Amino acid sequence: MSNPQTQKPNEAATQPEPLRVGVFVCHCGLNIAGTVDVKQVVEYAKTIPDVVLVKENRYTCADPGQEEIRKAIKEQKLNRVVIAACSPRMHEPTFRRTVNEAGLNPFYYEMANIREFASWCHQSTPQEATERAKDTVRMAVAKARFLMPLQTIEVPVTNKALVIGGGIAGMNAALDLAEMGFKVYMLENTQSIGGHMAALDKTFPTLDCSICIEGPKMVDCVRHPNITIFAYSDLVNVEGYIGNFKVRIRKRARYILDDRCTGCGQCKDVCPIEYPNEWDMNLGTRKAISVPLDQAVPLIYAINKDYCIECFKCVDACGPREAIDFTQKDEEVEIEVGAIIVSTGFDVYEPYDMPLLGYGKYPNVITSMEFERLILAAGPTGGKVIRQSDGQKPHKIAFIQCVGSRDKNKYPYCSNFCCMYTLKT
Ligand SMILES: Cc1cc2nc3c(=O)[nH]c(=O)nc-3n(C[C@H](O)[C@H](O)[C@H](O)COP(=O)(O)OP(=O)(O)OC[C@H]3O[C@@H](n4cnc5c(N)ncnc54)[C@H](O)[C@@H]3O)c2cc1C
Ligand code: SF4
Ligand code: SF4
Ligand code: SF4
Repeated sequence: MSNPQTQKPNEAATQPEPLRVGVFVCHCGLNIAGTVDVKQVVEYAKTIPDVVLVKENRYTCADPGQEEIRKAIKEQKLNRVVIAACSPRMHEPTFRRTVNEAGLNPFYYEMANIREFASWCHQSTPQEATERAKDTVRMAVAKARFLMPLQTIEVPVTNKALVIGGGIAGMNAALDLAEMGFKVYMLENTQSIGGHMAALDKTFPTLDCSICIEGPKMVDCVRHPNITIFAYSDLVNVEGYIGNFKVRIRKRARYILDDRCTGCGQCKDVCPIEYPNEWDMNLGTRKAISVPLDQAVPLIYAINKDYCIECFKCVDACGPREAIDFTQKDEEVEIEVGAIIVSTGFDVYEPYDMPLLGYGKYPNVITSMEFERLILAAGPTGGKVIRQSDGQKPHKIAFIQCVGSRDKNKYPYCSNFCCMYTLKT
């Protein structure tokens, strides 16, 4: 991915010019100086090749600090500036402006973050923090040697966005952007938007019915004039750069014509074939021609050719609507967007690889998501919690926490919601 803003070195960079690097080390009050020994960093910086000036300052970002930089650039003929201070996110634009005001190309400046990366994260070990700060300064000077003078240019941006993943996060992002007047494309690789929330029973903290909260949002998305949904579709390719992306999307064949299917379901009623419904965590079934859930958005049926026996009963049932097309092929479309939001959510960990838990061996050991489907009135058992082994009501239920999480051999992080949903359940 290339960005035209950072492409063009000018000719000056190709001419050998003796390097004159100035290093400015900031105390940031006690934010840096409270842990890092700034004097040591200053003395160390003086020993780095090409460094011709080192200064320390209590607050480099304040007016006197910036003035000192401008003065030094002019008087010492500095052609590279390294500022050892806070994060570039905080003050990179400030210091770019400062060096530019002194007549130096603003891209001849490099920031060494000795606050977040040294002082703040090693507060209990000041000597190590100081060593870390020295390393950071040395790396910044090394990078400064290779800096090139760049020009800032303006490029037009496409005022459209792509949201990848149509769960609750993606839908909210799409609706917010659409309400602001931006065109939004939503890419979802299953047949319906909604994500995991659409498969839950009730949600904490209010214990409202999950689909009752989410269903209207799903409909808002499909009806919004600024939102186009590509469901049952895959991302093929992204090229370009921030502001101007070209994205290729493959719409998988449903063998149903989008603009003719009314979602009436008459085809499903006559279809003789059932297969495990992934939406029900395979605890229930769906027909070879079906939608995964009644509230599917978009409400367009699809035929699963892996199971379909081509009896064509569905074609007769569809009748004059003529929505079924067995010859349909996958289709690729290209869209242009300026921004991409990735909200692809999570996958449920199925602990087949933890024999201790017996998942996959004992049918009554199930995941939390499977449990959600069992307690849901619209789920495969009509809301009855039954044992998978014999269809009977369980006498006792045990919840096992942190499975796969907070485990350095699996996923070291905490999922952040299984405690809560266990309490909810
Ligand atoms: C058992 C259980 C109970 C829970 N209970 C609650 C609760 O009571 N209250 C609560 O607040 N939270 C609860 N949560 C958490 C909640 O479900 C999640 O926080 C929420 O659903 C996350 O939404 P999301 O949009 O980020 O992701 P998801 O819901 O995972 O949606 C992501 C979407 O992106 C799609 N996608 C993924 N990859 C791609 C791709 N490459 N291309 C296109 N599309 C893609 C997926 O198909 C999916 O539709 C529970 C979670 C579980 C597992
Ligand atoms: S394919 Fe035809 S019968 Fe089936 S839901 Fe669509 S319109 Fe109705
Ligand atoms: S043709 Fe396939 S999808 Fe249609 S009714 Fe027969 S088995 Fe079902
Ligand atoms: S949310 Fe709770 S149960 Fe889940 S991994 Fe974190 S600590 Fe464990």
